[in-house]
Amino acid sequence: MKAGIVNDFKIRVTSSKCPLPRFSITIEALSPEPLGDAVKILAFKFPPSKAIYSQEQRAVTLRIFDRMIGIYENGLITFCAENLEEAKNLLKKIVKIIREAQKEAIVKGVPDIRELEKWSKLNPLELYNYLPKANCGKCGEKTCIAFAAKVLSGEKKLEDCNLLRENKYSNLVKKMIEKYGNRIVEALGWKKITY
Ligand code: SF4
Repeated sequence: MKAGIVNDFKIRVTSSKCPLPRFSITIEALSPEPLGDAVKILAFKFPPSKAIYSQEQRAVTLRIFDRMIGIYENGLITFCAENLEEAKNLLKKIVKIIREAQKEAIVKGVPDIRELEKWSKLNPLELYNYLPKANCGKCGEKTCIAFAAKVLSGEKKLEDCNLLRENKYSNLVKKMIEKYGNRIVEALGWKKITY
């Protein structure tokens, strides 16, 4: 086991417990201060398929940078890495994302636990209920259900469905906001909410 300081984080390096053979080490990095509510913001910065918030663990698990990264409110960050150099570079990227989340927490406030639960439970079939179901292909997907899956994987934005702006379908977004709230609908890629 090795230990050291990287970017003010105390890091502990152990042999990999990760399933992928390319990862040879596991990193535990402890922030000099707790990360607190920024962790909840992080759950919203990524689509539900890439971020799971656990109230019990007070942590978010992100599926980014080709691996799972655990970020805890107490300041602990855990992930697998190929080697120490790769781990240091990755830690810098993770810290950048966390700092952005901390700024967002100040500007937008922190999501409550009900919002986080709704966010993590969203699935393509639920989202499909709020799409025009026209299967017109204008968003680049052949069907609305395929579009819903792409929105939830972060590959498309809700705004990519132009039909949702037409009077005929505008009620769908209103209903979505009533059910999920502005924050979730914005996180799905609907930026200009005027309802
Ligand atoms: S543009 Fe909208 S209505 Fe058309 S296929 Fe895509 S999601 Fe469905």
